[in-house]
Amino acid sequence: MLLYDTIWHTITHNGEWKGELKNRRKDGSYYWLDTRILPLFDVEEQKTGYIAISHDITDKKRIEAISITDGLTQIYNRRYFNEMLPKIINRAKRNNQVICFLICDVDFFKQYNDTYGHQKGDDVLIALAASFKNSLKRADDFCCRLGGEEFGIIFETQNKENALEFANSIRTTIENLKIRHKSSLVSPYVTISVGLLCKNAKEIKDEKQLYSQADKLLYQAKESGRNRVCST
Ligand code: GH3
Ligand code: MG
Ligand code: MG
Repeated sequence: MLLYDTIWHTITHNGEWKGELKNRRKDGSYYWLDTRILPLFDVEEQKTGYIAISHDITDKKRIEAISITDGLTQIYNRRYFNEMLPKIINRAKRNNQVICFLICDVDFFKQYNDTYGHQKGDDVLIALAASFKNSLKRADDFCCRLGGEEFGIIFETQNKENALEFANSIRTTIENLKIRHKSSLVSPYVTISVGLLCKNAKEIKDEKQLYSQADKLLYQAKESGRNRVCST
């Protein structure tokens, strides 16, 4: 049900609705209201109307958004990832789904900084983040900067073959940005190595295990030559 249908359904069935609503001002900017809407009754218990009690929580929402966003790349940060991962695992367990998690790490990035300077290195990270974000298709998929030149992506797929295909498309999309990297030993352009872990949620012990297994696969991708995906 759409949000406003839910609210309407709740209050017309004499319930109270509580939640956060995002509204748009005339100038196009947004504000958030923490709202309670409840039906009113007269002494004969006849409904006479509704009342809404709201207070503005725009500042709180803004601070929340900043706290989960990476300052350089403007995608989600590690804090958001840590917060979401257990929730995602639990939801996938309930729905008996497969979870796909990939860790990407830029190849020879230290050399990139040494060759082109730290500022240009920052520009690369911004471009990669935008590309990752662009590659995501479903509303529940998300990417984040895990730290330094490492990124994480969590996504849903029908099966493991599709997941591998998706991971490879992410990798080739980055190489096809054709960002010059003359000190890379694997390509004339900036590339990434990828560890891809796809696992039935029921087989995942906890988020630490998921992370360390994906990290091992990334290590294998590095060891076996870089600019590639290693999967289970
Ligand atoms: P590998 O192919 O094995 O991944 O080699 P690498 O050089 O990418 O790996 P290493 O871990 O040795 O170096 C990572 C580099 O990433 C070192 C650090 O200077 C750089 N780096 C980390 N965070 C940032 C950042 O925010 N901006 C820039 N420009 N560089 C960063
Ligand atoms: Mg690294
Ligand atoms: Mg690296």
